[in-house]
Amino acid sequence: MDLGLEGKVALVCGGSRGIGKACAIMLAEEEAKVIILARGIKDLMATCEHIRNRGGEADFVQADLSEISEIESVVKRVRDIYGKVDVLVNNAGGPPPGDPLGFGPEEWEDAFRQNFLSAVELTRFILPEMIERRWGSVINSTSITTRAPVESLVLSNGVRMAVVGWAKTLAGKYAKYGITINNVAPGFTLTERLHQLSEKTAIDKGTTVYEVLDSYSNKIPAGRLAEPWEIASSVIFLAGRGASYINGITLVVDGGYIPCV
Ligand code: NAD
Repeated sequence: MDLGLEGKVALVCGGSRGIGKACAIMLAEEEAKVIILARGIKDLMATCEHIRNRGGEADFVQADLSEISEIESVVKRVRDIYGKVDVLVNNAGGPPPGDPLGFGPEEWEDAFRQNFLSAVELTRFILPEMIERRWGSVINSTSITTRAPVESLVLSNGVRMAVVGWAKTLAGKYAKYGITINNVAPGFTLTERLHQLSEKTAIDKGTTVYEVLDSYSNKIPAGRLAEPWEIASSVIFLAGRGASYINGITLVVDGGYIPCV
């Protein structure tokens, strides 16, 4: 299927590693011009190189999405590259794990800034140009915690639901301008983030990372963890014209892990 992404400009946040990186690579394969946003210059340059070496068009903006007051100027830097943004992938590193009562207001505010307010602000500054052009897609990376809370991920459980409510509100208001706003909710996916979470669990349980990852796989009907491209392909689908009548949904991509309909 032609997704109609050729020549579109995509901003992929958290695009230097993991799921975001897979989104950036796959959008470039669809001949979109990709702008990757993340904090670390080394990974940003490496991902850009990777895309360019395969004939894709990519550039990057180095920024910390939890610095909310800087997002307006970040969007200006982004727009300076290709002049517009047609596809916005809101994604950043996930909040830390811990005991449900172990987090105070500071940690909650950090999680809220990085995983909610960053998406709200980026969208607030980018949506008006999409409305003007009568075309745009916004895809928010969330988590299966939007369907079933994970005890050790209380910050994610709370903050991701805020994204779902916010996105649904915007989807209803701006659908008439040809804009879609959806969420992707990944299950256990083989990235640095999952590795870090598993390392912590392994230490807490006195076991190995391999055994922790294996225990996740055993709970998934597919019998394995996701590869980043398997999440990214849903993001790309929601960005493209094949999904033009899908709006305000949260697409769970979890190998069948969540048991409810
Ligand atoms: P990752 O840690 O491998 O990659 C995160 C990316 O975001 C990196 O490019 C990093 O540089 C960037 N980033 C982190 N904080 C940032 C900030 N403040 N400003 C700008 N860039 C920042 O993570 P991942 O596994 O690819 O996960 C992406 C998102 O999906 C996270 O929010 C994560 O919680 C969520 N998620 C992941 C899984 C999984 O199993 N991997 C499952 C469910 C949800």
